[in-house]
Amino acid sequence: MPNEREIEAKLPRGSRSEKDRPNLKGLLLPELERLVTDLGEPKFRAGQLASWMFGKAVTSFDEMTDLSKGFRTALQQKTAITGASLIRESRSHYSPTTKYLLGLEDGQPVEIVLIGGRERNTLCISSQVGCAIGCRFCASGLAGLSRNMTAAEIVDQVIQVRRLAPNRAITNVVIMGMGEPLANYNNVLRAVRILNAPWGLGIGARKITLSTSGIAPKIHQLAREDFQFELSVSLHAADDRTRSAIVPINRRYPLDVLMEACRAYIAATHRIITFEYVLLKGVNDRFEDANRLVTLLRPLKGKVNLIPYNPVEGLPYETPDEGRQAAFLQILHSGGITTTVRRERGRDIDAACGQLRLKEKSR
Ligand code: SF4
Repeated sequence: MPNEREIEAKLPRGSRSEKDRPNLKGLLLPELERLVTDLGEPKFRAGQLASWMFGKAVTSFDEMTDLSKGFRTALQQKTAITGASLIRESRSHYSPTTKYLLGLEDGQPVEIVLIGGRERNTLCISSQVGCAIGCRFCASGLAGLSRNMTAAEIVDQVIQVRRLAPNRAITNVVIMGMGEPLANYNNVLRAVRILNAPWGLGIGARKITLSTSGIAPKIHQLAREDFQFELSVSLHAADDRTRSAIVPINRRYPLDVLMEACRAYIAATHRIITFEYVLLKGVNDRFEDANRLVTLLRPLKGKVNLIPYNPVEGLPYETPDEGRQAAFLQILHSGGITTTVRRERGRDIDAACGQLRLKEKSR
């Protein structure tokens, strides 16, 4: 199993267009300001650029009509605002869920899911093309890791969906799609800052959730950041034996190491961590699993998000029946653990992480 350094080291740093010409969607405001002043323009042009890219989601410099022709030509020659293109859009027939398969500039497919709710629209985006973590029940892990996504590519996913679904305001973003965000730490953190910034996408920090499989040293690093958002940890088991069998990173960072990182994060940030728990029939859905979970999380005052498994073609895992799900939930409630059940949405459109992409690749 690769560790996070190996994961980062063997990957190309950015997309081709970013190497040749910086993609402006991945730049922070001071960097944009430096760039425009280097091109001989006043600083405030950076704000105009950002407003065109993030607010109006334009796809070409030509559309930026309040910038001079000469400046637009210079931008065109030296920079890029290119983005992904739509390969396929699938809408669920029985829930307000839409899945988009986007093609990055190098042709790699990534998937995004827009999940509608009563008062919010949550967009689940990806941070890597594929994933090296290899959780046994996950479609994204099946094909392994291709590369990290650049900050511009991560941000662009939100911009593209704003374009594709202009009537569905995106209120929440979860970085929970393909990839392990903390294995692409710098790009993800940069992207999150752009998603949050008032000059960027303007999504509140409390509405942005980063989900990790449990890279403990990176959780410690996150705790030291000056910028806080929501953190969720994909736990999926409360004992090392079961967790190592389904989330292989547990062999490197077993539960005591992971929980220590979570404690440090909570102490530094005073934030609550949500623990994701995919319920797999006969694997982690027993009463003793629920009781262990209570014992593990009660001291952390952690919240649990229970996710009945969404089966993936070719993988042997099944969804527990509803009685078992209810009994598991009841034990957590009785143990004082705040728990929500993530309703199954979009099974008809292969909404489990990585499934659409996997099908596209085999196609
Ligand atoms: S569940 Fe997440 S971390 Fe695990 S293999 Fe899938 S994408 Fe990677």
